Amino acid sequence: MSKYAVILMFVLLIASPSTRAQTVVATEKRPIVDEETARLRNVIAGSKKVQKILKQAESGTEYRISFVTTKYDPASPYQGYTTINEGSDKKGITVHIAGSVSRELIELLASHELFHIVLQKQGWPSQAQNPLISDQERDTTFQGAVVKDATAALMNCYPDALIDRWMSQRGFTPKVINRREYQLTVDAAKTSEIPPPQIFPLWRRYVALVNYCLSIRARDFEMKDVFKAYERVDPEMAGDQSALEQKLGTRSGCNNVRSCLEATKKLRHAAGFDGQIKFLTPLTNKWE
Ligand SMILES: [Zn+2]
Repeated sequence: MSKYAVILMFVLLIASPSTRAQTVVATEKRPIVDEETARLRNVIAGSKKVQKILKQAESGTEYRISFVTTKYDPASPYQGYTTINEGSDKKGITVHIAGSVSRELIELLASHELFHIVLQKQGWPSQAQNPLISDQERDTTFQGAVVKDATAALMNCYPDALIDRWMSQRGFTPKVINRREYQLTVDAAKTSEIPPPQIFPLWRRYVALVNYCLSIRARDFEMKDVFKAYERVDPEMAGDQSALEQKLGTRSGCNNVRSCLEATKKLRHAAGFDGQIKFLTPLTNKWE
């Protein structure tokens, strides 16, 4: 097992604690278009606002972007995520959107995911590695799952907050998906598996990271409800997050790939993940 495991994380997920990161490089078979997917594609095709971002995401690339619905799974309560197919014959990007959601949510989730693709085109890292654990540990242990989820949380943190602002500028209301994200986070916190004592400190740092990232999103909910949900596991959770806020501020000030990368490094340090998470920066072609 290579100690320097590389995961391609064309992440773009909206993750909740205790869920597994969808970091997939898959050769996907063309799925049969079910009714839900047909409806999804219909909504996207009929939305001028989404079509505009889709054009921006596809322009100048050889990738074609397609949309499919994904079945809602309480164990991995993603609202949306994106995978990239590097298959030699057909390069493509698939945006997965939760099924059975309203037209408004489809537009919001599709736009959110598309803006991740735009950011990646502008040089946002799509690869990360976890030098302190082996591939096997990462894929089979609780600790590995936490590190993997922390990696996705870190790499999405500032992009998500930036995307909220981009969406607001285009007339979307990102608070709607963030409120749903918050609800999923609270639900996941209530039922999450309690980590074994030896990895508790790591898990706690991970949850603080996720909560911090949720707190800097465009929102109309109170973070205290999230902490309440974690009380049975850790009554000190709110303190962890305010420690991060003291170091980093209560809002994301970054507004492009470069400044968000700098902010991400500061966040990684403050959250206690230096050395555990490294990412490949396309702008410099360096692992940082
Ligand atoms: Zn996102």
